[in-house]
Amino acid sequence: MAETVQGIPASPGIVIGPAFVARWPRLEVPHATVAPDQVEAEVTRFHAARESAKRRTVELRGQVESRLGSVQAKIFDPQLMMLEDPDLVEGTLTYICDSFLTAERAFSLRVLEFRSRWLDATHARVMDRVADLNDVQLRVLATLIDIPGPDITKRDDDAVILVAHELTPSRMVDLDRSRVLGVATDAGTRTSHAAILARSLGIPCVVGLTDLSRRVENGVELILDGARGKVVIAPTESEKGWFQDRDERARRTKKELESTVGEEPTTRDGVRIGLYANLELPADARAAAAVGADGVGLFRTEFLVVGKMSVPDEEEQYEAFRGVVDTMAPRPVTIRTFDLGGDKFPMFLPPIAEENPFLGWRGIRIYEMMPELFHNQARAVLRAAAHGPVRLLVPMVNTVEECRAIRAVIEEARRELERDGIDHGDCPLGVMLETPASVAIAAILARHVDFFSLGTNDLIQYMLAVDRGNAQLSQFFDLYHPALLRYIGDAVSAARALDKPLCVCGEAASDPLGALLLLGLGVRNLSCAPSAILGQKKLIRVIELEHVERVVAGLLDVETGREIRERILERLGEALDSTALNEDTGLSRS
Ligand code: PEP
Ligand code: MG
Repeated sequence: MAETVQGIPASPGIVIGPAFVARWPRLEVPHATVAPDQVEAEVTRFHAARESAKRRTVELRGQVESRLGSVQAKIFDPQLMMLEDPDLVEGTLTYICDSFLTAERAFSLRVLEFRSRWLDATHARVMDRVADLNDVQLRVLATLIDIPGPDITKRDDDAVILVAHELTPSRMVDLDRSRVLGVATDAGTRTSHAAILARSLGIPCVVGLTDLSRRVENGVELILDGARGKVVIAPTESEKGWFQDRDERARRTKKELESTVGEEPTTRDGVRIGLYANLELPADARAAAAVGADGVGLFRTEFLVVGKMSVPDEEEQYEAFRGVVDTMAPRPVTIRTFDLGGDKFPMFLPPIAEENPFLGWRGIRIYEMMPELFHNQARAVLRAAAHGPVRLLVPMVNTVEECRAIRAVIEEARRELERDGIDHGDCPLGVMLETPASVAIAAILARHVDFFSLGTNDLIQYMLAVDRGNAQLSQFFDLYHPALLRYIGDAVSAARALDKPLCVCGEAASDPLGALLLLGLGVRNLSCAPSAILGQKKLIRVIELEHVERVVAGLLDVETGREIRERILERLGEALDSTALNEDTGLSRS
């Protein structure tokens, strides 16, 4: 068997092709000085290079805007702001004027200082910005010196799988789709700008592959599976065949599923399951409506801050929310307020040194630090609610005090809108159940909120103490762990007792096997990636819910996650086979 490297899935799709390892040479900017009477000319050169870099960035932003839309184009905003950053500009000028350095040397030195300061932070979220800084550096230096680099477009052989240590956002945008089948990088996170762009451009992509670019040579054949985050090096013929079959089967199943849009997600014994969509971007609403989702179960709003250096204003948020509400109406839209912190740390948040960001300033805790952030968002959500049913969902809630504080902010926002005669609507309030504490007191929280959304991604992470972003730990990240079964079952009972709707919106809801477990535990609403909805509907339509519940009830005494998973496969696997939703199709992932 060939060697398989596990990375982080960044953009789905299976491709097979030769590797092209893009080794951009290290930027060597020689230490050079100028005579004092040349200083002014260097200052002029620097400003001209900066202006040219700005023009090129605006051009790129325009290209992305026309190809992918305005939200994606904003990815280039932080780069424009970096080019205006007084600290970066003044620091460079000081080196030119006081130390007589050349413009290119002075700028590189200043960038180096920024970079080492940011890398010291060691947070994934800050690392993401380093790629932006690298982009800025390259663009400024491009007009000052000659920058050599690999040029894929000049190769005249087959299309390739591009392997690189890291891709900056502009390199990703510049990729020629006819030459690049897929992208594999050593660095990067799911939230890095290059990964976001790959998803928007439809380029299969795996990031976080550690040292792949040092391990493969040009021309070595690779299989890249973007949905699963895998790269197979020099696959055997049979492995290639297996992946090709799987890809083909997935395409066929997808086509078949597309013909079932009008059908209802009702089980064979007549129970109607709610099937909602998770949205990452406003544009995803079209896909959700097209597959007949019952509404939006989770609209993540972090897209409003990704790549931004300032807090998004109320108007911008309102416009984005309203667009989704209009697309989905009369179906409900659940808007989740910012879940910042963890691996999503926009530049406008004050820098905080944290050993464990996922246990630190995250979710609702940030609102305490920046009250305006939540207040403006609550106003924007209430205003969007004037156009259709909207529900407001808050992440990382652990206590009743937090529920009370949220209600108070919403009430204040509502009163202001009322006072100023601004159109708005009412929103039910829900909280994410995604920490062990919140699930343990779900029966108490249920008295203070209108609905629950259970986030399996974080619940598994926090219950089992396994970093959700660490691909090396994926074998420990186990939905089927007996502890999870009990906790999810308890949350469902607590919500039911007070008649509060509960929807599961973590990745587990997009996974066919996961859905069987959740339905068996009494969950009646699932919120999935739009691409998983039709598959889940097909599954729901072939099962007898009573039978699924009986099977799952019989698992409470089973001692290990592996056995629980195996038993579900053994007893309910037929449903997966008959719908062709077994693991091979890879349809379970967005
Ligand atoms: C979750 O934690 O399961 C969830 C849906 O939220 P997110 O993935 O955005 O943290
Ligand atoms: Mg979460």
